[in-house]
Amino acid sequence: MSNNQKGFVLWFTGLSGAGKTTIADIVEARLKDRGSKIEVLDGDVVRTNLSKGLGFSREDRDTNIARIAFVANLLARNEVPVITAAISPYAETRDAARDLIGDEKFIEIHVATSLEECEARDTKGLYAKARSGEIKEFTGISDPYEAPTSPEITIQTEGSTPDESADQIFEYLEANGFLASELEGAVA
Ligand code: ADP
Repeated sequence: MSNNQKGFVLWFTGLSGAGKTTIADIVEARLKDRGSKIEVLDGDVVRTNLSKGLGFSREDRDTNIARIAFVANLLARNEVPVITAAISPYAETRDAARDLIGDEKFIEIHVATSLEECEARDTKGLYAKARSGEIKEFTGISDPYEAPTSPEITIQTEGSTPDESADQIFEYLEANGFLASELEGAVA
């Protein structure tokens, strides 16, 4: 196991159903296979624990994201790589997370699946409820989503597999020196 690990935060953002959790799970498993530390702060998991009781107003969403950023920063500054997978719809709030964590460690990943595709997938049945009005303040339907203007990585899930999307993230990590210490003699 490397003792020269670098902290970084893979900050996923995108609509519900875009593929954040699916891709994050693959990246987590692959990092573990390499002997890397990794901690995942998944939006749905955080909302049932750390942010239990918060709703979906702008204020509550910002509080939720600020908490995720706070924990991510504690881990990353101690060289623990972190994946966050929450919708994080507001650009200003994501930028505040970037400022806290540090630009050099903050890797914003826009999972840019279109609303049409997310709604067609409707893996959690939430879009149907949002359309019928059963769920209010639903991102993309009745609440805003501000796409990043200059994310480090943009992922198109339409026409590619989750594994290919994970490949794209590893290419970035390798090209930018985040994984160099994990190769453990695998330098061919
Ligand atoms: P989110 O975490 O963004 O809400 P999920 O990962 O829970 O999204 O759901 C995404 C859905 O889209 C899953 O059912 C997944 O199998 C599907 N999917 C299809 N293609 C892809 C892809 N290339 N990357 C990620 N997910 C994909």
